[in-house]
Amino acid sequence: MPWSEIRGQEPAISQLRPAIERGRVGHAYLFYGPKGVGKRTTARVFAQALTCREEPENGGCGKCRTCRNIEGGSYPDLHLVSSEGSLRMEHTQQIIRQAFISPLEGERRIFIVLEVEKLTPEAGNNLLKVLEEPPGDSVFILTTTSLPGVLPTIRSRCLPVGFSPLSDQLVLELVREKGWAESGPESLVVNMAGGSPGAASAVMQSGGLLSVREESMSLIELLAQAVKSPGGKVKSELTRVQLEVRLRVMASLFRDLLVWQKTGTEELLINRDQIEFIKRQAGHWNSPMRCLEIIENTNRRLAQNANLPLLWEVCWLELAEHRGGFYADSRRSTV
Ligand SMILES: [Zn+2]
Repeated sequence: MPWSEIRGQEPAISQLRPAIERGRVGHAYLFYGPKGVGKRTTARVFAQALTCREEPENGGCGKCRTCRNIEGGSYPDLHLVSSEGSLRMEHTQQIIRQAFISPLEGERRIFIVLEVEKLTPEAGNNLLKVLEEPPGDSVFILTTTSLPGVLPTIRSRCLPVGFSPLSDQLVLELVREKGWAESGPESLVVNMAGGSPGAASAVMQSGGLLSVREESMSLIELLAQAVKSPGGKVKSELTRVQLEVRLRVMASLFRDLLVWQKTGTEELLINRDQIEFIKRQAGHWNSPMRCLEIIENTNRRLAQNANLPLLWEVCWLELAEHRGGFYADSRRSTV
């Protein structure tokens, strides 16, 4: 996959491409930026550019055996290191062992280490040793979604390469190209992506965006009718990703309630195909902004490994405190 296939990350490419063209490649790079915007893909293309003998300046030819092996993940001098949990000593010890063995096919060994904010302090210090004195021509490409979470000593050894969220327009183009819009209205898919094609793809793979939205709409409706805890109706067998998707769909709905209350402009709505629902519910919620904050807080707690069913329940209990429409309010004020 050559440079041209990486979308919306021109500043990063304009930093990496000249390094290849001028033959001045650093020993360690730190790719930082949000999840799902192309860091890993760019790392792989950079590895191809570093290795392909045919068209290195284009980010590899994509056709030779080396390029194909890198794309297929079977190139022996490219090491991809990642972990569901922490990156521990065993990971970094393995990196160090491999780094000191001569490359098998190419001129250098390349290490792509994903999410280095997950390094334990001990493992981070261990990795630092090899970053300080990299053996041979080895190249380290580290990625992170949290620059402040990376040990300062590691950051100082790497050339930083920043990645940004994609514009909604670019995400919309990708959504159309990949046919993701079949799973739901384009405006909703683009909103769910939040500038991250990776997030859009994950949402699509988690399945049934429309049914998730229907479920969320009926929960909001139940809440507005003062059903005590509708959260319990969608029982707790949700995975983290599924809950994340639900929270984002809900956020898009409460956002629309807010936009409708403030502007009454249909074109500004994400869920404009559900205009009747939005109009109806806009009269039942007196503080969609506060509801958005509650959802945002829940999202944050989700990232901290909270108890999922409890989190879901608490979210709905908190939201319930803000039901009650303008009419209900005005009645109260006259009593
Ligand atoms: Zn090639």
